[in-house]
Amino acid sequence: MKIGLMSDTHDRLDAVERAVKFFNDAGVEHVLHAGDLISPFVASKFAELEAKLYYVWGNNDGDREHVREKFGEIGVKPLGRFASIELGGRKIALLHGEDEDVVRAVGKSGLYDVVVRGHTHQASIQENPVIVNPGEVCGYLSGRRTVALLDLKTLKAEIVELEG
Ligand code: MN
Repeated sequence: MKIGLMSDTHDRLDAVERAVKFFNDAGVEHVLHAGDLISPFVASKFAELEAKLYYVWGNNDGDREHVREKFGEIGVKPLGRFASIELGGRKIALLHGEDEDVVRAVGKSGLYDVVVRGHTHQASIQENPVIVNPGEVCGYLSGRRTVALLDLKTLKAEIVELEG
């Protein structure tokens, strides 16, 4: 089973639409977002997403009360700063990842099969422990608008550049 990973959407609505379409076309049932959605109005864009969305706060998410309300309208409940998620027999840690020491420690803890993080805006896939950063949906810093797919059986991830 493959799941979708995304992070750092930073108000870029057209890129969010593309990401949602990509995940719908890919037929994933679960999408993990590692934070920095930013404005409440972006939350409504996820209404089209067919997969279940898991969201953790990023450091730039300001108006959390309003984001929570907007997500609530489409049945999404933000999971705090850190989420421990079990899917397909795998344990996944989801966090924004501002502190590299924390990301490394969670990875090395042995409690998780995969750590999903964002924040750096750089897509990366690390093995042993498996730490995946899907990069930035917004494309502001890297010039690339990316998401990732993670195969829960093989624990192999792939970075996908959103077209258009
Ligand atoms: Mn951030």
